[in-house]
Amino acid sequence: MALDKESFNCALFEWYSKSGRVLPWQKEHDPYRIFVAVVMLQQTQVATMIPYYQRFISVLPTIKDLAETSDEMLLKLWEGLGYYSRARNLKSAAQIIMKEQGGIFPKDYDTLIRLPGIGDYSAGAILSIAFQAPFEAIDGNLYRIFSRILGIERPINDPVLRRQVSTWVKQLLPKDRPGDFNQALMDLGATICTANTAPACACCPFMAGCMAHQKGIEKDIPKRKAKALKKAETRTVFVILNDGKLALRKRDAEGLLGGMWEFPNREGELTFEAAKMQLAAWKITPTSIRKLPSLFHHFSHITWKLIGMKVIASFHAPETGFTWVSRETLQQTMSLPKAFSILLEAMDDSDSMEAKSEKEILTTLT
Ligand code: SF4
Repeated sequence: MALDKESFNCALFEWYSKSGRVLPWQKEHDPYRIFVAVVMLQQTQVATMIPYYQRFISVLPTIKDLAETSDEMLLKLWEGLGYYSRARNLKSAAQIIMKEQGGIFPKDYDTLIRLPGIGDYSAGAILSIAFQAPFEAIDGNLYRIFSRILGIERPINDPVLRRQVSTWVKQLLPKDRPGDFNQALMDLGATICTANTAPACACCPFMAGCMAHQKGIEKDIPKRKAKALKKAETRTVFVILNDGKLALRKRDAEGLLGGMWEFPNREGELTFEAAKMQLAAWKITPTSIRKLPSLFHHFSHITWKLIGMKVIASFHAPETGFTWVSRETLQQTMSLPKAFSILLEAMDDSDSMEAKSEKEILTTLT
């Protein structure tokens, strides 16, 4: 099937002018803001990401601010978005730009692609949107849209599909409006030719020529691959309180949630006896230990089953190696990943249930 460049772009831009999304960074040409938006949008839906983006930009409005911010502030601003390596890469890239480019955002592909966390798609999106440079930005949205228009019945990561789509996108990219071209296709993929719901073909500017629609197979393209089963891991997590302060420690710098705060935890489901022994090894004297409801936290490649233990401690030796903080300090200045903060919520729920049932018993007795 052949696509005519002029009529394709005419239909695309007409649709975009009427139905494209209005996003906070789209009408700006500040490369720093577009850079932040593009990185935040990797792995995160637009609706979720917008309030994070606005808060991030209001606290760190320039690349210099980002380069100089503390890790704690950076992670606090990122808290809840997940995939924290994106935030660290963002800051490292800002520091490199400050050091090597005098704070001027690079306009050339070769410099941009060497920055941490920037791949082909991000470089193309930044260059085309911020500088109107003729680069395509091909992500999952574009592979899906073009595989449907062209009727390519292959999985989305299939090299043949990728090559064909890439060739077409390069040919169709208009040199005078590359940023609008990329943004319009991103919008079409997010709102019309969607991934997880039936595409709204009746509203699509390409319905008449779309091969998948003509054959009635739009929902079956791209072909889905059977999902690999996720690894599962059980961890016993200790929410330890001493004098109203919570015990936290830092995770290893490398690996999952690298360098982030966590509640002390151990692999496996510990019995009360084993939990007491672990607390003794940490030089913590418990006055009570209560099991919290089990929770699950899903990462992209692994699921954690979390067995929470609420521990009230009467003593902890100074050399525990933990950092003891109030809830207020934790909430205001530190970043606790969701995998652990859900245990605080579970503890609060369980405490209020317990208080309620105690009140009911007292009411019955009086
Ligand atoms: S007609 Fe339907 S399947 Fe084809 S590109 Fe448009 S929304 Fe996607």
